[in-house]
Formats: sequence, structure tokens, C-alpha cells
Amino acid sequence: MPDLYVGGSWVAARSGATRDIRFPADGRLVATVDEADRVDTEAAIEAARAAFDDGPWPLTAAQERGALLHRVADLLVDHRADVALAETLDTGKRLVESEYDVDDVVSVFRHYAGLAAAGAEAGRAVDTGRADVVSRVVHEPLGVCGLITPWNYPLLQTSWKVAPALAAGNAFVLKPSELTPSSAILLMRYLEQAGLPAGVANLVLGAGPTAGAPLSEHPDVDMVSFTGGVDTGKRVMAAAAGTIKKIALELGGKNPNIVFADADRETAMDMALTAVFLHSGQVCSAGARLVIEESIHDSFVDELVERAGRIRLGDPFDQRTETGPLISAAHRDKVEAYVAAGVSEGATLRCGGARPDDPDLDDGFYYLPTVLDDCKPGMTVLQEESFGPVLTVETFSSEDDAVRTANDSTFGLAGAVWSTDGGKAERVAARLRMGTVWINDYHPYVPQAEWGGYKQSGIGRELGLAGLDEYRETKHIWHNIAPEPQGWFGADPGVAP
Ligand code: NDP
Repeated sequence: MPDLYVGGSWVAARSGATRDIRFPADGRLVATVDEADRVDTEAAIEAARAAFDDGPWPLTAAQERGALLHRVADLLVDHRADVALAETLDTGKRLVESEYDVDDVVSVFRHYAGLAAAGAEAGRAVDTGRADVVSRVVHEPLGVCGLITPWNYPLLQTSWKVAPALAAGNAFVLKPSELTPSSAILLMRYLEQAGLPAGVANLVLGAGPTAGAPLSEHPDVDMVSFTGGVDTGKRVMAAAAGTIKKIALELGGKNPNIVFADADRETAMDMALTAVFLHSGQVCSAGARLVIEESIHDSFVDELVERAGRIRLGDPFDQRTETGPLISAAHRDKVEAYVAAGVSEGATLRCGGARPDDPDLDDGFYYLPTVLDDCKPGMTVLQEESFGPVLTVETFSSEDDAVRTANDSTFGLAGAVWSTDGGKAERVAARLRMGTVWINDYHPYVPQAEWGGYKQSGIGRELGLAGLDEYRETKHIWHNIAPEPQGWFGADPGVAP
């Protein structure tokens, strides 16, 4: 069966091109999928435009839209094992993590199903001070949305866009990462089975510059929601400017994990490892910068390095494995170059910094958990995202210094504070310029709370109510219920009204 989903039909790429998808743990062929280019994406945009302009979906009652999203969630529950398998084969992440991801995706669909069914802030009456006027503000769907997603959490990032876009009544064209298309194909099948009208959901697979670029350039696309790297985000933003498209950007992060000397050491240690090494560091909110109080630096980092050195790399399907491979050879090259740059700038390599020497892992894109100590302000490794299993270490001497150090970044996605002094933790959290701050925790998120970045980590918010508003227009309707002439012009020359 072909893999592109356009106007309610499964179609092949018009060029006939295909792409091989490989398992990052050993390079084995996982799937061969159709590879779209511009003409396929333009056809998908046309289908979405027609479904939005002429189809029933934008006018479907919000409760019905919510019911459909619940049916999609039910199908995801039924097919949890299939989706998790597809996600692990495409990304190389541990199967257990993929299973958790599917559960998270289900929660996201149920959250927006609930908001739709509740008619979430559908609008409000406005008191104009005039008895002859009924005035109200309503929310409406935006139209055709271009959704572009990355490879690290393929279906989860997709759900953050697809669920609110549908809840609000939009049509969309989805372009997932060229490396991880499989779960998006499954999602389209579930949307189809759940009864979504043809053309509302469309899927194109392929490379960003060809299959993806029309989504930010095309005049028939009303908004583009993009998750990915900063450089690509800038290209999307520049392209969207040509038609003054609404944009939502979820970009990278270089997230500080601040540990005060009075933190609960055991938990802070455990979570500092999880913060950065989960999914081999390929997490936008990874706690890749350990910002630690000077007085505990030596003992804390010594233990952390020892524990990082014991992390078990291996087959993502093996339950003993603690972390899998990186997504691709090209990405591993990037991480290696980043570590080399750190060392040449003066960072101390405390562990890792190499590929594992286990011959069983030779065919995968594995890289050892790495700690770069003695990092100083201005170093590239503190400013750029490695998106790999690499932790940098900086120290601070006071509360002010901790805040200054943590905020010294062009990014502002997320960060954490560890302290048993609640007042201090709250003061620091309030001063961090980041979209998410955890106190005495790392990584949890819930679909009820907004997610997004300050500074160059993005524009707009996903999740929460704001995540729905990204996909809605706001309209003011003024209804004069007792109209009569004003006589402003020409009623009685020479007499001012
Ligand atoms: P990229 O920026 O390389 O790609 C993201 C998506 O954009 C892919 O689908 C890609 O296609 C597509 N793309 C590339 N060029 C264009 C273009 N000119 N026009 C339209 N689309 C294009 O990011 P990665 O996939 O490498 O993902 C990693 C990045 O994502 C990291 O920086 C990470 O921090 C960020 N991220 C942010 C999150 C957040 O919530 N803030 C969450 C998750 C990840 P292609 O298939 O060719 O790659």
C-alpha cells in the first residue's frame, strides 16, 4: 500500500521515488516508503484547502470533534504495541520508552478531546454599554495548517499539533522527519478508521527542503507549526513571511540543571543522569548543562562521572539496556565534532567522548555518555545544542551567580533547580528565562500545561489551552439589533450631526 495520504486516498509519490528507513541500532532495513516532493505536497495542500473550504469538518459540532479524538485515542490504545514497535524501529529508542510515548500520545488526544467537548472558551459575550447591540467574541479554526515534526519523539511531537488542530476544526498537511515516518502512517490509518472526513488530514513523507518547504511558502496554507532545530526554524520563519503566515516554532534548548549544595543529593544525582542521558540526550529539554554550586562540585561530579560510565548501551529491545543508539551516522558525527570542539576550547573530558568498543554495537550509531567538566562562559559547547549524550559542567558561587550562569544562553526552553530551601528554589525559578522550570524534578510534562520556549527556543506554545489557541482565529461579531440611520453624512447640510 502506498504511504502518502492525500485527500482521503493512499497514494504513491508522483515521481515514483522511495526512501529506505533503517533501524539505528544495527542499520537493518525497516521499511521502504514513498518519498514526496513539492508536487505531492502541493496536491496535499490543495486537498486540505478543499476539505476546509467546502467540507463538513470546520462546521462539525465541537463535541463531535471531541468524540472523534477519543476514538483515535481508543485506537492508539488498541494498537499500542504496533505503534511502539514502529517508533523503536525508526528511532532506536528503547521499546519501553516508546510504550510510554504512546501512552503520552493517548493522553494528548484525550486532553484535546475533552477541551473540544467542553467547548473550551468557545467565546464570550462583550458588554458594549449599548442596549441595542449584542456583541460577542468567538473562536474559529484557522484553516489549513502545515505541521512539520522532528525525529526524536515522532508521534508525540505530532500529537501536540494534530490533536489541537483537529479539536479546533482545521485541516492539515503533516510532514514528519524523513527518518521516522512509520508512526505517522499508522496515525493516518487511525484517523481514517475513526471517521475523519477525507482531506482533513494529509500526510507527505520526504525531505524538508522539498516535501516540507511548500508548507511554509504556499499561500493556501494559513499557519505553519514547526518543531525542530533553530536553523531550520529560521528558514521556516523567513519563508512564512512571504505570505504573512501565522507561525508556531518549537525549537532547541540548552537547558541548565542547577544543583545547590543543600539539594537532596541522591535524588539530584539520579535525576541529573536522567535529565541528560534519557534517549541518549536526544531530547529538546535535556538537562545538558549541569550548573553546580562550587562547594559540592568535586564530590558530586566524581560520582556522576562514575555512574555515567556504568550506563548500559545496547539493543533497544533488550530490557537490560539503559540507552540506545543515536538516530543516524550523520548525527553521531555532529555529536563527535561538538565534543572535540569542547575539548579544544579547554573543557576537561571526564568520561565518554568515544564510540563504545563492544563489537555487538558496531553496526549501530552508539556513542558513550560523555561529561565535559571545567566549562567556562563563552565556550561553544555551552551555547550550542549537541542533541547527544553530552553533559557540560559549570559552577556557581551564589544565588545570583546561579541565575546569571543559567540564563547565559540564547535558548530558553527549560531548566531545573534543586534545593531543599523552598524559598530559594522559588526565587531562582522566578528569575529563569525559560518556558518550563522544574523544582526538585526533571522532565515531567502534562498536556494540561503549556510547553514552549523563551528567546530562540521558539514562538508560541504547545499543549494546554494556549496550544489550542495556536490553531484558532478570534473574531468579534457586533450585532446591532435596533439599527437606524446615524445621519452622519448629508442628512441636513450645514448642521453637524
Ligand atoms: P530539523 O530542524 O533538522 O528538522 C525538523 C523538521 O523540519 C524535519 O521534518 C525536517 O525534514 C524539516 N525541515 C528541514 N528543512 C526544512 C525546510 N526548509 N522547510 C520545512 N521543513 C524542513 O530538526 P531535527 O529533525 O534534527 O530534530 C531535532 C531538533 O528538534 C533539535 O534541535 C531539538 O531541540 C528540536 N526539538 C524541539 C522540541 C521542542 O519542544 N522545543 C521537541 C523536539 C525536538 P527532514 O526530514 O529533511 O529532516
